[in-house]
Amino acid sequence: MRLFDLSGRVALVTGGNGGIGLGMARGLAEAGAAVAIAARDVDKGKKACDELAVLGARATFVPVDVADESSCRSMVTTAVRELGRLDILVNNAGTANRKRPEEYTIAEWRSMLDTNLTSAFICSQAAYPHMQAAGGGKIINIGSMMSIFGASFAAPYAATKGGLVQLTRALATAWASDNVQVNAILPGWIDTELTRGARQQIQGLYERVVARTPAGRWGEPGDFAGIAVFLASSASDFVSGTAVPVDGGYSVQA
Ligand code: NDP
Repeated sequence: MRLFDLSGRVALVTGGNGGIGLGMARGLAEAGAAVAIAARDVDKGKKACDELAVLGARATFVPVDVADESSCRSMVTTAVRELGRLDILVNNAGTANRKRPEEYTIAEWRSMLDTNLTSAFICSQAAYPHMQAAGGGKIINIGSMMSIFGASFAAPYAATKGGLVQLTRALATAWASDNVQVNAILPGWIDTELTRGARQQIQGLYERVVARTPAGRWGEPGDFAGIAVFLASSASDFVSGTAVPVDGGYSVQA
């Protein structure tokens, strides 16, 4: 369907070499976009690009450490140089760890903010002039259930994910007149490397999530392909500043 067609568009997905990021990159590629995958692990990145090429997409890997400002800015420049333009930015790279708030050092707090929140601001700032020049664009930020809920073990993570929702709203209002839509996706509990450790460490976590999720299962990276295509395509041209849970109903369960 033409509404969802991304032929001729270029997407940049941070953390696109695995997990949810690769799930979204696959969807964007299948809808016709050329995709730049950006992350630190080069081998994983090249494998992800090979996968997208099999789907028929033009794909390139751009190394980045999103915790570093100049690395973010040169990532955007490189993606535009290699793929010719930039229409879609997915701020997906992120990290998490689990501790009580009183146990975090300020260095750990700052590191989490740099990786999960400041990175999205810098990458969006760097992408904006390219989108403005092209007459529009799409920015998709990846929040979390921690954008909505609190948890005793995730103070800095929750602060970054709550902040991403407010950043989404602020950028959406600022750039609407440039035809740039900015939205957030809030994943529920998804089976990726990020949650593998928690599943192993916390006895009963797997079962508790299944029991609380109306859909009765954990999410998979493939569950993010559809929402990514919707928010990246002209099907969502009048949708901006929203935060869409993709959680099997977890956030509406009483
Ligand atoms: P993964 O661990 O599979 O993916 C995280 C990605 O981020 C990796 O591709 C990693 O690549 C990249 N990344 C991490 N740090 C950096 C950095 N400093 N610079 C560049 N890239 C970095 O986990 P998920 O797919 O689960 O996580 C993706 C996003 O989804 C995150 O923002 C996470 O917070 C969010 N999320 C996940 C949930 C879940 O249940 N899994 C729930 C809610 C939100 P590399 O190491 O190669 O740099």
